[in-house]
This record gives sequence, structure tokens and C-alpha cells, in this order.
Amino acid sequence: MKTNESNPLGSLDEWEDDLLRRYPQSTEQNGPQDGPSHQQDGKSFRNYAAEARPSVKEFYRLNHRYQTLDFVREKRKQYLSLDKRRMSIWGAMEYLNTLIDDSDPDIDLPQIEHLMQTAEAIRKAGRPRWYILTGLIHDLGKILCLWDEPQWAVVGDTFPVGCRFSERIVYSEAFDANPDTDVPEYQTDLGIYEKNCGLDQVVMSWGHDEYLYHVVKDYLPPPALYMIRYHSCYPIHHEGAYDYLLNDTDRELFRWVRDFNQYDLYTKRDERMDVAALRPFYQELISEYFPAEIRW
Ligand code: FE
Ligand code: FE
Repeated sequence: MKTNESNPLGSLDEWEDDLLRRYPQSTEQNGPQDGPSHQQDGKSFRNYAAEARPSVKEFYRLNHRYQTLDFVREKRKQYLSLDKRRMSIWGAMEYLNTLIDDSDPDIDLPQIEHLMQTAEAIRKAGRPRWYILTGLIHDLGKILCLWDEPQWAVVGDTFPVGCRFSERIVYSEAFDANPDTDVPEYQTDLGIYEKNCGLDQVVMSWGHDEYLYHVVKDYLPPPALYMIRYHSCYPIHHEGAYDYLLNDTDRELFRWVRDFNQYDLYTKRDERMDVAALRPFYQELISEYFPAEIRW
């Protein structure tokens, strides 16, 4: 992916690096357990001090300017019929790995290694097999980049559209340029939604989370689907925004999303993964939950 006006990031990792700047790692890690941790908002403190780098700020500006309810509806129509191709999970991992960006290949790990680092950290923590598998696949929705979607429509913090944008979203002032702020119906807390209707009723900004959720929703248990669908929703899982849209199921399952975040965000290391050596374990795990091919 070439850096240009609609793709200001040298690599998708620049957004994730900015997440690390905003949410530095807390010292406590969770040990083996069957349920999610009880980690609450605020334990990993938020870093207000430093500024995002210019490319990342520009990325947020584009994201906040263009993610409108109409845009998301358009993308859902375009992608959620899942008629782009049929691929195995492993095939999608290899396909995602063909994503080449402008960053220094000596610094950024191949996509497949981020997936494996996440999965291996979950495995080492003694978590259930479906959880390890969730780590392995959680970013496969980034293949949207290979279909020429701009960076701001693939990654970035996600948030509800069709209602007032929370000021707890990073660089929320950039929403002033979003045409939805001129639609009075979208400018109340609830917007087009009902109080505590549940996130399943809420249209989220478009990106790799929502897309992959629809690809895998018939194959994995509810906590796995929540992790996949909302792992970029920092306004909710880290900032506690939009509580008036959540129902009790969301609140329960967001404990899993927060739990997953430690493995997603804080496992990015320089340590290389031996993909060939790990492949047999993961192929077997994939085949426990998925047919040979699924629709993308
Ligand atoms: Fe992700
Ligand atoms: Fe990730």
C-alpha cells in the first residue's frame, strides 16, 4: 500500500503504535483462567501528555470526516453478502500477508506474525482453544486493504454512527467536519437508536472488526464474536462511552473484549514467529471450528 492523500499511514501498524502511546501497558497481567478478567476501565491509565504523530492525526481526521451512517450502509451492502471469494482461514492469513506497505520491513513484522504473537500469548496464558483461535484470526478483516479500501475504512478506533459522536473518541473535534453532525436526528445521545437497545442494533463505523464478524459469525462462540467485532472499539472498552446504548449482554461480553485487548495490544514485539513450525498446531485448531473454505 502506497502512502498517499487517502492513506497517510506508512503502515497500518502506525495506528496500533498510537494506541500504545494512548494506553501504555499496565504492569498487571492476567494468569490462566476460564473467564475474562475483571479489569476495569482506568486500570491501564490513559496517556494525555504526548501528541500523535502527524500521519496518525491525518488518519484520524480522514476517519472522522468520512465515516458517516450512509458510508457505512454502503460498505455493508458492498461486503456483507460475502461474495468476494471463497478461502480457507489459513488462505486468508497468507492473503493478508501479501499486504505490503511503505514502512520499513525490518521494523514492522509481517501481518501473519502479529496474528501468531497474539494467539501464542493467549495459548501460553492457558486459555481455551476457541480463544487461541480468536487471537489467530482477529485481524483477518484487514484484507479489506487489499480490495483498495482506504486505511481510514479498515483500521482506527470504531464508534457508533447515527447518534452523537462521543467526545471520548480520540481527536473527537475532527467530527465537526463529518456531514452527520448537520443531521439533527443523529445529534442526540441516542440518535436513531433506543435507550439500551444493545450494540447488535447499533451501526458501527466501518472497518476490519465488523467485516470479519460477519465472515465468522456462524462458527465461533459469543465471547469470541464479541472480541472480533469490538476489539477496536476503544471508546467503549477503554473509555466507557455509549453506556446508554449497551444492554446487559453487551456489558457482560465486553469483559471478554477488555480481556482480549491485553493480548492484542501488548504482544507486539520484535521477536519473530516460526510460522512453519507453528503451522500444524494452528491448522488443526482451525479445522476444529471451520470448514475447509468459507465465504469472504
Ligand atoms: Fe485489529
Ligand atoms: Fe490486532
